[in-house]
Amino acid sequence: MPSEGYVDSFYARTLRERRAHPPLEGDLDVETLVIGGGLAGCATALDLAEHGHKVALVEARRIGWGASGRNGGFVSDGFPGGYPALVERVGVERARELHKLARMGNLLLRERIERYGIDCGPVQDGALRCNMAGQSKSLAEFCDFMARNFDTHYTHWPRERVREALSTDRYADALFNPNTYAVQPLDVTCGLARACADEGAAVFEGTRVISLTSHGDRKEVRTAKGRIRADRLVIACGGYVQGVHKTISSATVPIATFVMVTEPLGEMLKKAIRIPYAISDIKIATNYYRPLADTRLLWGGRVLAWERPAAELARVLKRDMVSFYPDLAGARIEIAWGGMMPFTRHKLPVIGEIERNVWYATGFGGLGLALTTTAGRLISEAIREGDQAWRVFAQFGLPYAGGKLGKIPAQLVYWRHQLAAKFGLSQNP
Ligand SMILES: Cc1cc2nc3c(=O)[nH]c(=O)nc-3n(C[C@H](O)[C@H](O)[C@H](O)COP(=O)(O)OP(=O)(O)OC[C@H]3O[C@@H](n4cnc5c(N)ncnc54)[C@H](O)[C@@H]3O)c2cc1C
Repeated sequence: MPSEGYVDSFYARTLRERRAHPPLEGDLDVETLVIGGGLAGCATALDLAEHGHKVALVEARRIGWGASGRNGGFVSDGFPGGYPALVERVGVERARELHKLARMGNLLLRERIERYGIDCGPVQDGALRCNMAGQSKSLAEFCDFMARNFDTHYTHWPRERVREALSTDRYADALFNPNTYAVQPLDVTCGLARACADEGAAVFEGTRVISLTSHGDRKEVRTAKGRIRADRLVIACGGYVQGVHKTISSATVPIATFVMVTEPLGEMLKKAIRIPYAISDIKIATNYYRPLADTRLLWGGRVLAWERPAAELARVLKRDMVSFYPDLAGARIEIAWGGMMPFTRHKLPVIGEIERNVWYATGFGGLGLALTTTAGRLISEAIREGDQAWRVFAQFGLPYAGGKLGKIPAQLVYWRHQLAAKFGLSQNP
């Protein structure tokens, strides 16, 4: 049975980090209030609490209810849109700086999983990124580009090695990234919130912020049954931000992507996939999938402007899976679900101060596990020490993207089979 208050997902059904947090009732006074109990909010609140800061974290539903508790679980050190596009946009020096920060998030999350004993495993190291068959450009060139510019240690897998590992003729070559690892993301998010509470943060679930106002230097936030006064706010509401803050809502377009999990496949899995790693491909609407410890296969993919019913998702995602792995045609799909990712117009994540003492972190797209951790650290350092490192993420700005209205053009683009490319999800290694 799913844990109460979550969408029905494999993660909610198998949740181990089950600490519940009360709703806020009454008044509270803190230095910093973080709004949104996803990975970005938890990472920020935890960093602040670890340094003795008086912080509260409020989540409208359950911790990890949003994208953070529904995703593929790949903790990459990549950047939405890929590094060649990033270099083109900001130059190699800036791209290197951003890559180091992405890597910092990837390592910090791992360190916290270990430090706080977060039960989210088995944590599986390694990811394979596959080139589609028929591509003229080999990924060997990209591995060299990354090693030269970013000191990465990717290994190039030629076609024969990919074939030994995967029974599909849809792929050409691939690259292996040893730094990506896979986790159970709802357990990670709930474990981080547990750590926040243990470090002294006040954590509330079932506490939706309904209004924000400023009184001189102080901020006042209203919830259904309470009021919080704070010196500053951090808005970390991802693709579910809606009316919390008009400028942030209208600078992001929430786009849905989907995941399904098969029944345990036993020997059938090995017929198709003989490696334990997280796997994805460089395709319009990237497929991302990974074997789970009990021989199930978790398969994610597709992007759409709106969420769809679970039965329809299961059907469509199964069709995708079988088009790659005909050996899995007999697999029963146990469950499917979707979640919302916010995209900015430039498709890059942004961190900044929207007005004095009101911080935000959004636009992580489909690569948020490491980057939300980075964001939390940078915002916390800015608040505690006045550190300016966050500015590298502010350079992209928050241009108007249409918010919910932006879904209409996004959907039209999807109908032209280009949505993923437009949102930087595809065709970039
Ligand atoms: C299906 C799917 C697969 C993905 N796969 C991967 C992957 O494999 N690897 C990867 O790196 N990234 C992946 N992503 C992206 C990643 O999940 C996100 O980038 C990341 O979780 C964003 O975290 P967040 O905290 O910004 O937002 P969220 O996790 O969405 O959290 C926002 C929270 O804010 C709360 N909230 C909203 N309004 C209010 C309010 N008024 N008051 C209080 N709380 C409020 C919401 O309830 C929600 O819980 C995937 C995303 C999806 C949807």
